Parts: sequence; structure tokens; C-alpha cells
Amino acid sequence: MNQIHQVLRHVFGFDQFRGTQESIVQHVVDGGDALVLMPTGAGKSLCYQIPSITRAGVGVIVSPLIALMQNQVDALTQLGVKAAFLNSSLDAQESQLVTSRLLAGDLDLIYVAPERLLSNSFLFTLDKLNASSGIALFAIDEAHCVSQWGHDFRPEYRQLTILHERFPNVPRIALTATADAPTRAEIVERLSLESAKQFVSSFDRPNIRYRVLQKNSAKQQLEQFLEAEHSDDCGIIYCLSRRSVEDTAQWFVDRGWDAMPYHAGLSIEIRNANQKRFLREEGVIMVATVAFGMGIDKPNVRFVAHLDLPKSMEGYYQETGRAGRDGLPANAWMAYGLGDVVNLRQMVDSGEASEDRKRVERQKLNALLGYCESITCRHQGILRYFGEAHPGKCNHCDNCLEPVATWNATQEVQKALSCVYRTGQQFGVTHLIDVLLGKSTPRIQQYFHQSVSTFGIGQELNQAQWSSIYRQLVAGGYLDADIASYGGLKLVSAMALPILRGEQEIWLRKDPASVKTKAAKVGGVKAAVYSFTNAAEETLWLALKAKRTDLAREQGVPPYVIFHDSTLQEIMKIAPRNLQEFSHISGVGRAKLERYGTQFIDVVEEILSGD
Ligand code: ADP
Repeated sequence: MNQIHQVLRHVFGFDQFRGTQESIVQHVVDGGDALVLMPTGAGKSLCYQIPSITRAGVGVIVSPLIALMQNQVDALTQLGVKAAFLNSSLDAQESQLVTSRLLAGDLDLIYVAPERLLSNSFLFTLDKLNASSGIALFAIDEAHCVSQWGHDFRPEYRQLTILHERFPNVPRIALTATADAPTRAEIVERLSLESAKQFVSSFDRPNIRYRVLQKNSAKQQLEQFLEAEHSDDCGIIYCLSRRSVEDTAQWFVDRGWDAMPYHAGLSIEIRNANQKRFLREEGVIMVATVAFGMGIDKPNVRFVAHLDLPKSMEGYYQETGRAGRDGLPANAWMAYGLGDVVNLRQMVDSGEASEDRKRVERQKLNALLGYCESITCRHQGILRYFGEAHPGKCNHCDNCLEPVATWNATQEVQKALSCVYRTGQQFGVTHLIDVLLGKSTPRIQQYFHQSVSTFGIGQELNQAQWSSIYRQLVAGGYLDADIASYGGLKLVSAMALPILRGEQEIWLRKDPASVKTKAAKVGGVKAAVYSFTNAAEETLWLALKAKRTDLAREQGVPPYVIFHDSTLQEIMKIAPRNLQEFSHISGVGRAKLERYGTQFIDVVEEILSGD
């Protein structure tokens, strides 16, 4: 076994590297610069942790995620690795202590916030280190923070080139889970990584099951889904506004769910307390705006739900990507309806951004809408957006499991478009549908719409079916929501005219008549994560989890820092009776074997001998 494999086995307790990890680790151990693009959960941390341990000197990890540093350091300490962090959460005395350990060569890894790294005093400390025990490498985590186009932009990241200028012989490894090519190019340019070797992994997240539903009563739909598949699981529910976060959290709490709100309008104390609970406890739900998530490395988030549409495919991918970091099955669930489309279109149009920027935002939104309405494999759709091919269908997303029927809707679409035209291109969907259905409401009478030629010509379909048609027409760019008339729809001539003139056919997706959770069919996700063949197994699983929670509480760390769910599952399956057997379990390195082996073996012994 060579050195990096030894560290992998003895420190981390893993038998094999995953994907490109081994070549990255070897490249950096040999002193090369690297740019690593890997999706969330694929195992980026090992790529700099192992070289930091094996190379002489300390590995310096730059990260903007202060909240995460403590967890990373806790996790490494559990593995017997000497790690610490320096950021604004430490007082002067604590910082001093860390700096002394650093200078004494007593650390394998140090995590530093970028502003701290760039301070004169820290750069001076690095000079001293470089001349004494040495610097193993610089890792620049979340490297997309150099990009001013992303919402995570951190100006200090732009100055990180100083590392290369001041310490040209120290290898650098930049890492990100952001997939798009413009951001990648910007990272290379801004961090002077032209000569770094690039390691690009597939961005597929095979363990995530994607599902998009037509919204009718979103919260109830979501609750049905949670009851069927995630009654005890931890997950995130994303909403667009602070107000809907509060309302939704309260709604779920009122119905007996353990839910908490998180948005930028809450006090920092509440946000921190809620985030801490989310990280440390099992079975809790965070209802949040997109302010929550960056830096959440909880591995067993089993579902991410969107009650409102995200703004782009990038956002959708990133947010849903927080599910299933541990590689076990997880769900990405989203409900969307016409109201979302109209809202988001209006938000883009009425924003303060330049025309160019708005055009980009509109394109991004359209790509997302195309994805929502698509009838093909979701995994393929996501990867296609990021310029990657997916080998075949995934066979477990909604579209693969329940293929969507389409229908030739040309005639009905002509009626729908014509109704927009005849009523003056300024009315919203409810009104347009009333006209098509021939309803003589006071509003219809007020505008004399009972006498337009489209009044009552759509009685072959019901309200829900017309609503589905209008949603698809807006999503497909045939109709546009007008800001001036508060969401009134108007024709996009270039798209709509060929259909109105009968020059072009249009096929639409047939929405299910009523959306019900097919628990039996899609419930496999849950069964696959926690499937017990007998009652004893379940008892053992619960006992192992209880042991983990006790140990975590005693030490004030999140449970997954002790062992991941996947390690507990293996303990459950193998039921080790001695340390030798325990040492073969994935995720059990030497330090954890020594610390926890006997305790978990005792749990196994106790439960199984009770048979
Ligand atoms: P990322 O930073 O890319 O999101 P992490 O570094 O947090 O991913 O790793 C995700 C999970 O995968 C962690 O729980 C980690 O322990 C596990 N992991 C990483 N590499 C391996 C490996 N070679 N074998 C088994 N598990 C691994």
C-alpha cells in the first residue's frame, strides 16, 4: 500500500478512492496545482486533506464558510488529525493559541477565512512557516466565490493571487461544485491558475430522485409527500419570500412537524440557533429562503422541496444538491404553477438590472421552465443544461417512472391565444378562463366580455385543463406576463402567430387529473435508505443511532461527525462482534476504532443477544 492509500485506509477508514480523487491527490502530493470541479457530495475535502497530511508542513485551507470550519475541524479531530481554524468567531486569546500551534508545527491543517488570510499579520506568519516547518499546500475552497456573477461573490477572493506570488513553490488546489464554463474560466483567470491541471467530474447526482409537480395546493401536496416518504427525515423546504417562509414554517408546526424558519430577516441569534439545531438534530425540517444552504454540509438531508420556483437551473441544481451528500437515496421535490412563472417573469422585468443582464436572467428562467415542462429524463435534462451528456435514462425520476402523455393541443391553444387577443391582451388567466368557459361574472359583464367571439367557446375543457394550457404557453414563451397590466397576458407575436394562423401544430403535456403521491411506486426511496428485514434489525438501527446521539451530545458535535448513516448501516448489516471485524467497516479509521469500537460492539452484542 502506498502512502496515500495508507492514509485513506488508516485515517479515514475508506478502502477506495472515488472517481478522480486518486489522481487529484497524487498530483497535489507531487507538488502540482489543480482546479477541481466536482459536484456536492462527491468528496472534494479528501482531495486537499490527504495531501495536507502526507506532505511536509501544514495545509492552509481558505474557506468563506465560517460556520463550517468548526464542523470540519471537529470531524478531522475525531479522525486523529491535527486541525484548527482561524476566523472572527475566535477571541484574541484563542487565535493566539492557534497561531502558536501553527508556528510550532503542531497542525496538519488550518482553515482560514479569506480576510484573515490576507491580513498582514497572517501573511507574516506564513512567511515564518514557509521558512521553518513548511506549508504543504493552499486549498481554495468554494473557488467560485471569485466570480462576480455568482451570488456568493467575495471580493477578498480576488486577492488570493498573492499566495502564488509570495509562495510560488507551494502547490494550490482550487475546488468548486459550480459547473458552468464561464465561472470556470473566471476562476482560472482570477486565481492565475492557467497552468493548473483541471479535474472535471461528472455533475450527475445519481442518488437524487427529481420530481416536479403541478401546483394546486402546494403545502398539502408537500405534506402528503412527506407523510408518504419522509415522516422522520431531515430536509429543507425552500420558499421565495421571507413571508412565505414564516407562514409555511408555522403551517407545518401547527400540523405537528418539527419545522423552523430561516431567512435573512431573522436576527442572527435565531438564525444561528436554528442552523445549529438543523445540523445537530435528526428529523428536523428547515423552511428557508435561499439565504440558507451555502455551507450546510449535513450529509443526511433526505429531501429538498421547492414550494416556489428557483430563479435558474444553477439555483435549482445547487439547492437540490444539498440533499443526499452521503450518497444514499434522497428526493428533490418541486411544485410549480402558472403563478410562479408570472411572478418570476415580473421580478426579472421590473428589477433594476441592465437590459443585458435582464436578457440573461430571462434566458435562465426560460431554461428552468423548459426543464419543469420537459417530458424526458430529469437527470439528462439537468446535465444537458450544464453541457454534459448522460448515459441513458436514469429510470427513477418522475418522467422515467411515470412517462408523461402529450396531446395535440393546436385547436385549444388557438382558442386560448385568441381569447387573449380578443379581450385586449391585458387580463390574467382567471378572467381569460371565465371567458372561455362562458361564465357571466360581474367582471365579465363590466368589460362586456360576454360579447367577444371567444366567450363560451372552451366548454369542452375544465378550469384546471385551461390553466394547464396557459401555464405551458407562458412557460414556452407564447405568452408574456405584462407588468403594466399587473400580470395580464399578451401575445408574443413571433411564437403565437404561426399557431393562430394554423401554420404550426402544438403538442402539450397532459397533466395528471389530480396529483396524488404514488407512495407504493416512488416510496422505494425510503425503503432503500432504511430497509429492515426483521424487527431485530430495526431495534439495532435505533440503538446504534441512540448511541451516536449520546456520544455526539457529550462532545458537543453533530452526530454525523461520529459516524455517518452509511457507517451505521454497515455496522447493522455486518453486526461486528470484535474490533478486527469492526475495523473493516467503511468510515472506521484507526482513531475511531480505538475510540468507539468497543462501545458500538457492545450495542450490537446487547441487542442481538436479546433475540
Ligand atoms: P464535497 O465537499 O465534495 O461535497 P465531501 O468531501 O463532504 O464532499 O464528501 C462527501 C462524503 O463522501 C463525506 O461523507 C465523505 O466522508 C465521503 N467520502 C469521500 N470520499 C470517500 C471515499 N473515497 N470513500 C468513501 N466515502 C467517501
